[in-house]
Amino acid sequence: MNMTGTLKRILKVTSNIGSNIIDAPIVVLLYHRVARLQEDFELLTVSPDNFDSQIAYIKSHYPVLRFDEDWSKVRTPAVVITFDDGYADNYHNALPILEKHNVPATFFVTSGILDVTHEFWWDELGQIILDSTHRYPEEWIDYDTQILTRNIDENRSLYQYQQKKLKSASVEERRKILDNLIEWSGKKTYLRDDFRSMDYYELKQLHANNFAAIGSHTLNHVQLSALDYNTQFNEISEGHNRLGKIIGAELNTFSYPFGAIEDYNLDSLSICKTLGFKKVAANYPGQYHRWSDNLQIPRKLVRNWDMRFFKSYLKRAFYL
Ligand SMILES: [Zn+2]
Repeated sequence: MNMTGTLKRILKVTSNIGSNIIDAPIVVLLYHRVARLQEDFELLTVSPDNFDSQIAYIKSHYPVLRFDEDWSKVRTPAVVITFDDGYADNYHNALPILEKHNVPATFFVTSGILDVTHEFWWDELGQIILDSTHRYPEEWIDYDTQILTRNIDENRSLYQYQQKKLKSASVEERRKILDNLIEWSGKKTYLRDDFRSMDYYELKQLHANNFAAIGSHTLNHVQLSALDYNTQFNEISEGHNRLGKIIGAELNTFSYPFGAIEDYNLDSLSICKTLGFKKVAANYPGQYHRWSDNLQIPRKLVRNWDMRFFKSYLKRAFYL
């Protein structure tokens, strides 16, 4: 880190510590999956054992709030647990651990991927490009990228490149790119049980549980900032309404797909406001205070860390 970087960091920490004196900070954690996977190229999966230890630690050190409750009366540092996307393991693996520790969590679910026979697009891409059991002929090259795919490292570069392209593509473009890759690789994709999202039954069961609340996460997990206003509106409102209909409840929370500052824009904020969302979660570090913007609440991403790292990460999350 250079001098300017160091100075910026010091200023940020000082300012956050100052804010914490005025008002107790709330740290919202972001999980995606709880499972035992052979390969996890996106590094978004926490093992059930690590999740269990993390939740036990949080529970014994902080009050755990619900995402949708009123946080204005909070006077001590607190933690909120959230999940994005809607993987089936949220219901099968995460929920029993949350129940065991009496810890609530909110699950932001992509409604267009429920009860379907395909995987999330990044998992499907991984299946095409990164599946180590599939060997590409040595002379193969992706003509679009000129990236060779002779070994797993080259495949990873191709994955990164295509992932970036797919992220900002429209739903139709996305399917076209994936179909082209399927044709190029000769590899047929299928729905792996380890990678599936929830079906309607699982979602309803999750919703009915006292320790779970549901929020929406668009219809097709698109990068909102890459879309025009009307397409964004449809993605957000249709995703939200469909989810509410499935579980038979009025929802009022949402999280931006990907969630970094460049993944949504002023149109997204205005749509969330128009739709009357109570709280909206983003995905970058920061603490929530009573003066924070409810339409872009910072969250700290959690990975599959052991307790030593997790403890210091969580401690730092309150001022970094
Ligand atoms: Zn997501």
